Parts: sequence; C-alpha cells; structure tokens
Amino acid sequence: MKFCPRCATPLIQRLDGGRDRPACPAPGCGFIHFGDFSIGVGGVVIRQNRVLLIRRGHEPGRGWWQLPGGYAEHDEPLVTAVEREILEEAGIRANVVEVLGFRHSVGGQGSIGGPSTNVYVAFRLEPDSSSEPSHDQDEITGAEFFDIDVLNAHERVQNLTKWAVGWALSGARGLQPAPRTQDPTRPPWSLFHV
Ligand SMILES: [Zn+2]
Repeated sequence: MKFCPRCATPLIQRLDGGRDRPACPAPGCGFIHFGDFSIGVGGVVIRQNRVLLIRRGHEPGRGWWQLPGGYAEHDEPLVTAVEREILEEAGIRANVVEVLGFRHSVGGQGSIGGPSTNVYVAFRLEPDSSSEPSHDQDEITGAEFFDIDVLNAHERVQNLTKWAVGWALSGARGLQPAPRTQDPTRPPWSLFHV
C-alpha cells in the first residue's frame, strides 16, 4: 500500500504502537494501515440429524464439501453475513442460534506483502422448515443435507467442517450473540456471550 485509501496522499512510515506502519502525513487525515484483516463465517445447519454442506466449484478445494459460508463484508454484521451466505450458496433460510467457536489464522499475503490475519467464526443455525437446498452450478456444485456418519467417513469434507459439526452435535454450549435490543451507540454491532 503506497497511497492513502482515504485521501490518496503518499504514505510514510511512522512508529505507532511499537512498530513502523504505513501512515498518512496529510493534516487531519490520520489514516494508519494496521494490517490486513478478514473475517470469514460458516454455518452448521442441522435438520433431522442431517447437516447442510456445499461442494466448492472453484479452487482452492474444488470438489470438496464444506459448511456454507464466506467472507463478511466490511460493513455487515456477522450474523447477517452467515445467514446471507447460507441462502446464497445453499438456498436455505436459517437463523443464527449460537456461536460454536472461531479459528484465528495468521499467514498468507497481505496487500503490502506482509502477513495477513483471518478470523473464521462458526455458527449454529436453525433452518426454515420449508426451504430445500439449491445452488448455482458454478461457484457451488452441490448443496445437500448429509447424514452425520456419511459426513464423518467422507474423504472430501474439510476437517474444519467436521470439527464444527462435531462440536455442534456434542451439546457443548458455545457463545451466543447478544440480543440486539440495547443500544451500544454504534451500528452495526454484534456481541457474543456465554
Ligand atoms: Zn490520508
């Protein structure tokens, strides 16, 4: 990153929080590039002891089955993101019930060549009883409810998916999204609690 994404001024290196960071020297701008962060979401949707999976149509992982999910937009609450992705990828309307856990991974290439960091949050959702799986045949080449035994024995199901499904079925309680009734002053927001 060479130019400020807010005002296009060439960035300089400035010490902030103990390390040099690309920063904007323009008066009144204040932009600092703290790094490359992304947030992924995935949903465990169980209906009659079967779990909803999708098959990837593109690399990486083409042909592998996994939980429906994707990246949250920068201005989108996570709960909305996972419900949207499940509908887009698998045609199923579902509502978030709880947070199962999250994975934090550091690595890959950021926009300035440094490390990037990703948080992937796994949710459990209750599906709408009337919707049936459907998919677009390009990005996604399959969407089905799997028997648990079939899923666990399947060679082309991601380990992270197996973990999340096992955790959801174990009955161990995860974190729950706080009801969005109190005003924490800044939209949009999500709080999670036990
Ligand atoms: Zn700037």
